[in-house]
Formats: sequence, structure tokens, C-alpha cells
Amino acid sequence: MRYVAPLLASAVICFAQPAHAELDVPSLKSAIEASVDSDYPHLDTLYKDIHAHPEIAFQEVKTAAKLAAEMRALGFEVTENVGKTGVVAIYRNGNGPTVMVRTELDALPMEEKTGLPYASREKTTWEGRETFITHSCGHDIHMASWVGTAKTLVGMKDKWQGTLMFIAQPAEEIVSGAKAMLADGLFTRFPKPDFGFALHDGPFGYGTLAYRVGIGSSASDGLYVKFKGRGGHGAVPQATIDPVMMASRFIVDVQSVISREKDPTEFGVVSIGAIHAGTVGNIIPDEAVLYGTIRTFKSNVRAKMHEGIERTAKAVAAMAGAPEPEIRIAEGTKAVINDAGVVATAEKVLKAAYGDKIRQTPPGTPSEDYSEFITAGVPSMFFNIGVYEPERVRAWIDGTGPALPSNHSPQFAPVPKPTITTGVTAMTLAVLSVFDQRARGQ
Ligand SMILES: [Zn+2]
Ligand SMILES: [Zn+2]
Repeated sequence: MRYVAPLLASAVICFAQPAHAELDVPSLKSAIEASVDSDYPHLDTLYKDIHAHPEIAFQEVKTAAKLAAEMRALGFEVTENVGKTGVVAIYRNGNGPTVMVRTELDALPMEEKTGLPYASREKTTWEGRETFITHSCGHDIHMASWVGTAKTLVGMKDKWQGTLMFIAQPAEEIVSGAKAMLADGLFTRFPKPDFGFALHDGPFGYGTLAYRVGIGSSASDGLYVKFKGRGGHGAVPQATIDPVMMASRFIVDVQSVISREKDPTEFGVVSIGAIHAGTVGNIIPDEAVLYGTIRTFKSNVRAKMHEGIERTAKAVAAMAGAPEPEIRIAEGTKAVINDAGVVATAEKVLKAAYGDKIRQTPPGTPSEDYSEFITAGVPSMFFNIGVYEPERVRAWIDGTGPALPSNHSPQFAPVPKPTITTGVTAMTLAVLSVFDQRARGQ
């Protein structure tokens, strides 16, 4: 492979080799962009069709069928209905590593207010209620970039060897689709990838990229606690065990798990977002239910917080002479942790291609279930691409222009062509970087 100098040996970074001695990344980038430019009318139609016809978590039947048809047309071997509505597309091209590229399929239960000519007016039933559906997280951008990357890589198949494993994952927004695909044999019915990549768009300038080394997003767990008391008259508290008192004490004391038990240099948050207890002022109810969220980056901090939260709830009940509370911590998803070796390999190529338009950023506190594939053993890099005109972003930052809508806003409106072009180009370069390393046997 001429493109990329080896940088990584079985996930160990090798800096001894001069980076890209034989690599002309700028001309490779131009060639990819020219190829995307000629394919763009098709990608634009696909993007606007998916945007106008979004589907919600685990209902992505038409969206999945569109992507499956695109991949079959490119010569991929396609399996549908993996993890309910997921798609797996395999393209074998000689001996070499298996590289996974993931897109999400799902949209959000909300109304689009962009006013775009291709805005969605679709509706569905979600949790018993009729709702509009919108691609306001930009997963439609990811899908168009995913198809474009597949086409570009197939078009330059003389330049790499190995297997492409393109997966379209359902239900990212409810952090359930990655687990569903894994439970349906993603890495047993199909090859287990040696490397994996995913991208996400965000409210910054198109043509620019952001990535993280190590932790990228938080682990998210749901908390449910039911304090069981003994109800009675508000004027006769001695005959009761007051669950509202227990809930109040718990809400305050649980923050000492954060401030006194967790290492203060480590990230961890517990927030109680809902309290359900009682009906009127003069009745002490017989139970109080709390709902919260727990966010962490590291598994040892997460385990410590879970233990401290449970112990605090039990201690509060014991202090009141109440029965043990019911405590449920529902695992949402883990933190995305980028692999140091994969990042070291891909960032050299991406920096050569994008210069000061690619930057490292600190971890974010939202969550993303790509982490499930990493935890299942796929060394990966998850990175971000911008969607707005750079001048509008600059004006927003300078305070001379309005704030731009972020993901999940009803006004979120990426500029399609430059955003998808960057998605395809950056993803193609990232995939080529790891193929090259293995091809050289480094
Ligand atoms: Zn989202
Ligand atoms: Zn998203």
C-alpha cells in the first residue's frame, strides 16, 4: 500500500517509522472528493429521501431496506433484520483485516421546524401517543456518508485488501440497537472486526472534524428507588414511617457519594429528576418513588457510585426503621473509549488531510451506544464532523450572530453537500489508514 505509512503494531503505536514517507494524503483527499462530487447527485437524493421519511427506533424498516438496496448495488453481501431492523453488509477483497463502519438508522419523536423543502411531516405512534418524527440528530447525514464511503472504497479496491463490514444500527437514540445487534450474533454470524469507525455530526463548521483520545462519551444508567413506609395522618407522625422524609434525606445524602466517596478528579454525576409520592398535605403516604440518572466515564468510578448509591438508600431506610427500599439501576450504555492505536493511525492521515480543521476535544457527558461494540472487543475511533457554514459558526462564537441549533433541536439543519462530502472523505481516509497498517504486516 502506498498511501499510509505504518503507525500501529497490534494496537501498539510505532513512532519510529517516519509518518507518511510514501503518502500523499492531500492528493488522495482530492481524488476522494472528486469521486464524491461525481456521485453526489445520487447521495443528495438518498439523503433528502431519508430525511423526509424518517423512522423511529426499531421501526426503521423502509430506511433499512433503502440502505440494503444501495449496498447490494455496490456488490456487498447484505443481511437484513439483524437486531430487529439492523443491516450488515460485507465486501470481501482479499486477505487483510476486517474493518467495520457503523451508521445509525433511527430518528427522533419530535416535530421538524426547519422549513426546509425536504422537511419531514411523517408521524408514528411512540409509547402510545401519536408523534411527528424527525432526523434532528443527523443520522440521515451519517447514512448518506456511510453509503458514499462504501462506494468510494469499492471504487478504489485495488488500493486496499481485506473485508469491509458496514453495519446500519437501529435504535441508537434509546441506546438499545447496538446491544440488539450483538445479541443477534453480529460478531458470531459475521466476522468480528479488527477495527471499527463511526462518526457523528454536530453544530460546528462543515469541513472541520473533532475527535478524542480515550474517553469520548459518558456511561449512562437509570436509577429507580422506592422507599416503603407506613402511611397515616399527617398530625400523627409517630404512627407512621414517613417515606417522603426518607426520599428527601436520600436526595441530599446521595450527593455525598459524589463529593466524599468518589475521587474528586474523576467525572461522576447523579441527578434525581423525578419524585412521586403522596396526594395531599395531611396524609403521610406509604411509599415514595424516585427516578434519576447516573453518568460516569470510568467503570471503576461507575461501580463505586452504584455501590454508594445503594448503600445510602438502604441506610436511609434503616435509619427510619423502614423495610429495605426497592433499588434498580438499569444499565443504559457504557462510555465510548477510543483506542489509542487506532486513533494514532487515523489521526496522522486525518491531520495530513485537514490540517488545523481537525482538533482534539475533551470528552462529552452525553452517551452513545457505539460503546457496546468497543466493549465487545473492537478497537475503534469515533469522531465528529461539523454541519454549518463556517461564517455562521464564527458569528455565533463572536456573539455577532445567533446561536445555531444543536442536535435534537427542531431547527437542526445540516448543509448537506459539504457535510456529506467531509463525512465520506474523512471516513474513507480513516478506513484506508488501518488497512494499510495491516497490509504491511506491521
Ligand atoms: Zn441523538
Ligand atoms: Zn445521534
